[in-house]
Order: sequence, then structure tokens, then C-alpha cells
Amino acid sequence: MPNKPLKPCRSPGCPNLSEEYYCERHRRAKAAEYNQFRRDPELQAFYNGSRWRAMAKRQLKRQPLCGRCLAEGRLSAARIADHIVSIKNGGARYDADNLQSLCVACHNKKTAKE
Ligand SMILES: [Zn+2]
Ligand SMILES: [Zn+2]
Repeated sequence: MPNKPLKPCRSPGCPNLSEEYYCERHRRAKAAEYNQFRRDPELQAFYNGSRWRAMAKRQLKRQPLCGRCLAEGRLSAARIADHIVSIKNGGARYDADNLQSLCVACHNKKTAKE
């Protein structure tokens, strides 16, 4: 296979170069996300729904910085509207009080724990 030129990873703020869209680490994170959805098509439908998308957008507008980083004194742009109590654990889907803004790194850490 010919060597492909290395491109920066598409994950925001990631310094890694990769032959694909994402570096090794983020490719794995994406795969995990994908598998999670595959196991639960209903959840996938929820996340693709316009009501959730609008809500996520509002959350990131209201709270554009990652809440966890902020608590540790770092300023990171949030990319993900996250359910504080995850849906899997019975958290409210459309309750703004159950939402927090997270950066990708913090979100990955959180989902890895769950
Ligand atoms: Zn990356
Ligand atoms: Zn963060």
C-alpha cells in the first residue's frame, strides 16, 4: 500500500497526525460510540432526532466551556451536550437540568467510566 500523506486528526484540539480522519485513539473512541449506538437503535434515533439536536445546540450556546475542565481551572471549548445522569441510567432525556457541556476528552473519560 502506498504511503498516504498524514493529516491532522479531525477531533477538535487533537495534535495527532493520522492517515485516516482520526488518530488511533480517536478512531477507537468513535468505534466505541458506534458500537454503543448499534446496540441500541432506539437511542440512536433519539440522538439523531431534531428535538435533541436543538436542545444540545442550546446547551452548548448557554455553556460553551467544558464544565469539568472549568472545575479544574482549565478553559476548554465544549463540543458535547452530555446527560449528567445518562439515559441508560434512567436520566431525563429532555430536561435541561440534566445537561452539561463537555469537551471531547472529558466526555470520553465519562463514558469510559460508565
Ligand atoms: Zn485524535
Ligand atoms: Zn473537559
